[in-house]
Amino acid sequence: MTSLYIHIPFCNRICTYCDFNKFLIKNQPVDEYLDCLVKELETIPAELDTVFIGGGTPTSLNDRQLERLLQFIQSHFRIAAEFSMEANPDELTASKIHLMKLYGVNRLSLGVQTFDDELLKLLGRTHQSVDIERAVDTAKSSGIQSVSIDLMYHLPTQTLDQVKIDLEKALELDIDHISSYSLILEPKTQFYNQYRKGMLQLPDATLAADMYRYTISRLAQSEFKQYEISNFAKPGHESLHNKVYWQNKEYYGAGAGSHGYIDGQRYYNIAPVPHYIKAMHQGDAVKEVHAVSREESMEEFMFLGLRLNEGVSKSIFSERYGVTIESIFGEVLQQLEAARQIVVAEDRIYMTEEGRMVGNDVFEKFLLSV
Ligand code: SF4
Repeated sequence: MTSLYIHIPFCNRICTYCDFNKFLIKNQPVDEYLDCLVKELETIPAELDTVFIGGGTPTSLNDRQLERLLQFIQSHFRIAAEFSMEANPDELTASKIHLMKLYGVNRLSLGVQTFDDELLKLLGRTHQSVDIERAVDTAKSSGIQSVSIDLMYHLPTQTLDQVKIDLEKALELDIDHISSYSLILEPKTQFYNQYRKGMLQLPDATLAADMYRYTISRLAQSEFKQYEISNFAKPGHESLHNKVYWQNKEYYGAGAGSHGYIDGQRYYNIAPVPHYIKAMHQGDAVKEVHAVSREESMEEFMFLGLRLNEGVSKSIFSERYGVTIESIFGEVLQQLEAARQIVVAEDRIYMTEEGRMVGNDVFEKFLLSV
């Protein structure tokens, strides 16, 4: 069995920091897109462990469109474990939640980002802090088993006190999972252009590290346990779907700009909606296929797996590749252990908090081709 990611590339407004494959929904051929998406989904095996509908914003679909998609998923797939969907707090109406529950969605991921209304405005979000509690309450009272929120730090003008307030407000909610991401300035975003023109002040690296450290230590005192660099969950609420990526397992991707990893090959779908639709009418929307070499697979096994607090397993590495982890990465492991950035303990290798603070530097060390 495997997993499936489904991409809905529409949003009601474009956020100032966003570089995902998304388009303003107004005047988009949404119904035609869904026709093509269903056609693509029909080609994917029915037995799945997890499904994740992301975007864009899946809740930008109207009730009729959302029901059509969910109905198809329910009738075509058998989902053994987790069915997640992303939502924006202000778009999560009682009728949409009702549809999600009706068609088996059991995990909701809410794009909260911050509880500070000024910062939300700066981020270009459509919701306000008042929408967040209402969305969580609606989801929980409708019986959605697991509710997650995304938070962001390292935002323009943001102070450590604002990060602290966001965490306290999050902890007051009836939620099960928190993701906390640092803002990364991506080319082609409004923020990036403003930053280049000197119009955007970001917290410096020291303050950003303090924000991250504070998040880890505050959540460690709560019921939320860190299980990945940016993710914290109450017991039994870790994201099974995202763990598929971090454990370097295979999965399908469907929709414009989505990608999948099947039979040792990564494939990438065409991103612009009209091109995706045209390609699907002609057969399929795959733009590129990349056969992952054994070397690349080993690198990915290490730097994806080390993102998890449980780290990587030496025995699983040996089973997968027929060689010991030490025979491939022995020298790097010794260096990182001496620098206290990783710990090697019996079957497992995991990153220390010190390692996580410089995560990208640690991951780079596992590149075999450099
Ligand atoms: S709602 Fe999400 S996908 Fe849409 S623009 Fe904002 S961050 Fe990007």
